Amino acid sequence: MLITNGIVITWEDENRVLEGYAVRVEGSKITHVDKQSLLLEKFPHDEILDANGQLVMPGNICSHTHFYGAYSRGMAIPGDPPAHFIQILEKLWWPLDKALSRQSIEASANVCILDAIRHGTTTLFDHHASPSYIEGSLDEIYKVVELSGIRASLSYEVTDRNGIDQADAGIQENIRFANYIQKHKPLDGRVSSTFGLHASLTLSNETLEKCRKSIPDGIGFHIHVAESEADEYDSLSKYGMRIAERLDKFGILGSKSILAHCVHVDAKEMELIAKSNSWVTHQPRSNMNNAVGMAAVESMDSLGIKVCLGNDGFSNTMWDEWKAAYLAHKSWHHDPRRMNGTLVAKIAGKNNRELVHNQFGLEVGIIKPEAHADIIFVDYHPFTPITAGNLPWHILFGFNESMVTLTMVDGKILMKDHEIITMDEKRVYSEAKKLAPDVWERYQSMLKEK
Ligand SMILES: [Zn+2]
Repeated sequence: MLITNGIVITWEDENRVLEGYAVRVEGSKITHVDKQSLLLEKFPHDEILDANGQLVMPGNICSHTHFYGAYSRGMAIPGDPPAHFIQILEKLWWPLDKALSRQSIEASANVCILDAIRHGTTTLFDHHASPSYIEGSLDEIYKVVELSGIRASLSYEVTDRNGIDQADAGIQENIRFANYIQKHKPLDGRVSSTFGLHASLTLSNETLEKCRKSIPDGIGFHIHVAESEADEYDSLSKYGMRIAERLDKFGILGSKSILAHCVHVDAKEMELIAKSNSWVTHQPRSNMNNAVGMAAVESMDSLGIKVCLGNDGFSNTMWDEWKAAYLAHKSWHHDPRRMNGTLVAKIAGKNNRELVHNQFGLEVGIIKPEAHADIIFVDYHPFTPITAGNLPWHILFGFNESMVTLTMVDGKILMKDHEIITMDEKRVYSEAKKLAPDVWERYQSMLKEK
């Protein structure tokens, strides 16, 4: 297939904006990026996919999300609003994840993945929790990944908050799923796994030790770290050390591990994280919503920590997360020089791409020969020049979610001309809607039970 008449944005380390070029896709991979006239001459029998003047660029990557949070959409939390992070967990997320059944796990994954395809997000790292349906929960999400054509890394959040039996069930779910993926390597590498852990404040030493001992070779952990001060205070008061030191002691840090948030880590913890080559993922919209502060992303970047960009379950328009990152740090520090657009682009582009390479062993998030064809079309026609140098500011101030018209993963078109091809959008929404009253009712009863 030849993608013609587009403006190609490659997102290579030296990013290029190419006019008059075409991209050739064969099977799941890009084979050529070259002058359109040359490729048309060389491959006269190729099917043509006309981009019609749109931008042709790599699909977005989301390094931390929670499909299970879908049913929080439109939810007004009953009673007094939560006053701090722990109350947000207790009043919203914990009763909501307990309310999920097999069907509502599937429906949550369906609506989130559909949203991702619609908004050009082609790889997501999901962190799942459903205490009332643990064993087999990752299979429910896997089925949606399989049918939708998206690329995803899955994990189950192990926690002690519902007792040892459920912590053990979470451990087993991670092991079972990781072993399946490693043995069968299904979906041509479109699916991967990490070992999910909720957060230091809900994990005992005994459980961390079990996780360290049982994690299958070749994968890392995916855990919330120091999202709020409460997580650090808990670690200091119970264990006499800060979170990163505690996680290091239990072998949780490492070059395959993903640490979400790291808002309250101190300089020593940052050094530990840098030394261990762990990945950090930043979710500024979530941090603002929970009023937990802002991670020292610029310092982490200077220390050589690879900071990535996730959405923590917010909408899958990753450009909205770009914008939040760009604005939030300026506002937080009262300084317009903070969080340069090139750093946002490095985090969301280069670092997210390298994370996928690290976790899936694949090259995506870049348009070059041999990379996997995860590509989107963006219907953006700026009235100012667009260059590799100023592209971040076009994305920050010009792009919006409705501009994605085509989404492709592994060379397969999942959405064309805004129409989702691999999923029945009407059915997905009507089935999710049918389950919503029951999920919300169960949420209310879990909230009272607490
Ligand atoms: Zn999260």
